[in-house]
Formats: sequence, C-alpha cells, structure tokens
Amino acid sequence: MLDCAIIGGGPAGLSAGLYATRGGLKNVVMFEKGMPGGQITSSSEIENYPGSPEILSGLDFMASWPEQCMRFGLKHAMDEVTRISKNSDGTFHIALSGGRSETAKSVIVCTGANPKRANFEGETEFFGRGVSTCATCDGFFYKNKEVVALGGGDTALEEALYLSHICSKVYLVHRRDTFRASPSTIEKVKNNPKIELVLNVDVKKAYGDKMGLNGLIVVDKKGNERDIVVPGVFVFVGMNVNNSILKQEDGTFLCDMDDNGNVLVDLSMNTSVKGLFAAGDIRVKASKQVICAAGDGATAGIQALEYVNH
Ligand code: FAD
Ligand code: NAP
Repeated sequence: MLDCAIIGGGPAGLSAGLYATRGGLKNVVMFEKGMPGGQITSSSEIENYPGSPEILSGLDFMASWPEQCMRFGLKHAMDEVTRISKNSDGTFHIALSGGRSETAKSVIVCTGANPKRANFEGETEFFGRGVSTCATCDGFFYKNKEVVALGGGDTALEEALYLSHICSKVYLVHRRDTFRASPSTIEKVKNNPKIELVLNVDVKKAYGDKMGLNGLIVVDKKGNERDIVVPGVFVFVGMNVNNSILKQEDGTFLCDMDDNGNVLVDLSMNTSVKGLFAAGDIRVKASKQVICAAGDGATAGIQALEYVNH
C-alpha cells in the first residue's frame, strides 16, 4: 500500500513528491509515463522562474529537479496510469497500462494540460521557431515587432491584449466574425489601437526559412489570400486537459470538474473526494506557469501528508 501516489512528473508532481517525502511520508511513488520534467521540456527557453536568472532551455532547466525532489525518498515508476478509482475502504485503486495496479492511501493528480494545435501547414515545422502557444513565455522575444494571435476565445483575446503591451502590432486572426470571449474582453480588444482584427479567414500556411518563421498566409471565404509578414504566431485554439485517468467506467468523473474538464480544487488543492488532490495545469483557474504548478504541488504534498497522518 502506497502512502501517496503522484500521477505526472512535471513541476507539480515533482514538487508534490519533494514536500510529501521531506515531510515524512515513507512510501511515495510518482508515476510518470516518460522522463520527469513535464511540458516545459519542450520549450526552447525559460526566463521567468525567479531565482534562475540564466536563460535555459526547458530541458536544461528541469534537469536538476528529479535528483533534488527524489533526495528524500520519492520513487519514480515509469508507468502510464490509465484510471484512478476509489475502493470501498477509502483507499485508491491506481490502474496502470499493461494491466498492473497499485493501491494508495492518497493520490495527487498532476497530469497537466496541452495547448491544442490548429493543424495548419508549417505549424509543427516552425513550432518553437516562431510558432508558440504561450504569450507569457515567448511574447518578450517579439518586443516591438508584429505578431499574430490566432483564435477567438478568451485565451486568444486576453493574450492578444497582453501581447499588445509588448509588440508593436497584433493581428488577431479568427475564422469567424464573432468571438467566444467575454463581451468586456471583446470590447477591450476592439478599442485597442495596436490590435487589427483579421476575421472570417482560415490559415493556409506558415512559412519561413532556416532562421525561423517569416509569415502567415490566410485565406478568406471568397478565396482571397493575405500574406501577414510576422516573425511570431501565437496559437490559442483551446487546451486539452489531461483528465482521462479520472474518468470512471460509467463515464462520470471521480471528482467534480468544471465544464472545460478542469479539476475543481480549493486553496489546499483538495478535490471533492477526500484524499484526492490535484495540482498544476490540470486544476481549475491554473495560471499555467512552472512556478504556479510547483507551488500547487508543494501545497498538495503538504496536504497529502496531513491527510495520511491524521
Ligand atoms: P506538465 O508539465 O504538463 O506535466 C504533466 C506530466 O504528467 C507530463 O510529464 C506527462 O508525461 C505526465 N502524464 C500525463 N498523463 C499521465 C498518465 N496518465 N500517466 C503518467 N504520466 C502522465 N511556463 C513558464 O513558467 N515559463 C515558460 O517560459 C513556459 N514556456 C512554455 C513553453 C511551452 C512550449 C509550453 C508547452 C509550456 C510552457 N510553460 C511555461 C507552461 C509550463 O510548462 C506548464 O505550466 C507546467 O509545465 C505545468 O506543470 P504540470 O506539472 O502541471 O504539468
Ligand atoms: P475556446 O474557448 O475553446 O476557444 C478556442 C478558439 O479557437 C475558438 O474561437 C475557436 O474558433 C478557435 N479554434 C479552434 N480550433 C481552431 C483551428 N483549428 N483553427 C483556427 N481556430 C480554431 O478556448 P480558450 O480560449 O482557450 O478557452 C477555454 C476555456 O477557458 C473557455 O471556456 C474560456 O472561457 C475559458 N477561459 C476563461 C478565461 C477567463 O475567464 N478570463 C480566460 C481564458 C480561458 P470558433 O469560435 O470558431 O470555434
């Protein structure tokens, strides 16, 4: 029987493991299907983690985390978790791919989320070399330059506003002429002189060269093409929350979720199920930053310790 099972080895899972084991929990396993580090390891640069002034690749930045976080006994199992369910005695059943399983007194879910891709030509080729899904992370690289923000939801419009404070101009490219974003945000975007709305267009392709992205070609409903010459394109077309392990056999979720599939938690990272915690990008209203995920993980680790000990 595990004292605590941590699912996911990104910043949230690693921090949860550090705090739970350093606080005294003895049998703590972090189930991470790949190498620990999480989605930031796909980023070319991180420069906004306080205390780390050197600009590092995501991979280099996370390199020292596993060793430090495992110093107090956290174990890493390179397994994919397929489902978490609750046993009648209050413990948790952790189903693993391949048919094996574990039992744990407490569980911290840290499986993260992934920005969706829009699937236009050149998106993958120039990802990390002009195409980005994170304005907080990469906006600064386009200071006083023109960029595209793609999408019509709250994220696209809010991030377009954020980028307008850094960039000389933001083209907000959307496939329709109405937005999903909240009315007040739409109003702010429409009144922002640095944002040009490019509506009713589909993205044809992103183009560039060895140095990176040079622009985006969009096409309107009549087939007219427009070449938007920019070094940066930010894709904000929704997020995939990695919540499938919480889905039960009957299709319901183990704990309460919001309408977008984010796990509902309180300020202590408690879910609606006792002994089940969620931390990082998977939880409701996550700021989707490494430092925030690490903070959540630490909180959840402390709470799991409290839960198991009492
Ligand atoms: P994740 O980092 O997503 O980790 C989740 C882990 O869970 C993954 O390792 C995954 O393999 C594992 N997992 C998922 N499902 C299972 C399963 N069923 N079984 C086992 N393991 C599983 N933030 C910043 O602060 N600064 C930046 O500059 C920055 N740049 C970014 C650039 C890019 C390209 C991206 C994509 C994100 C960036 N972010 C940045 C955001 C940051 O990476 C995330 O907010 C942070 O990683 C979230 O941490 P997490 O631990 O919640 O989840
Ligand atoms: P979203 O609401 O799902 O919006 C995604 C947008 O991307 C839509 O406008 C969609 O167009 C467009 N899109 C989807 N696939 C595309 C593709 N392949 N090519 C081009 N465009 C594409 O996603 P989100 O903005 O990330 O928001 C997710 C949820 O979080 C929403 O419920 C949102 O309200 C919430 N959120 C809230 C806040 C806040 O409260 N401040 C902030 C951010 C997010 P269509 O409209 O045509 O479908």
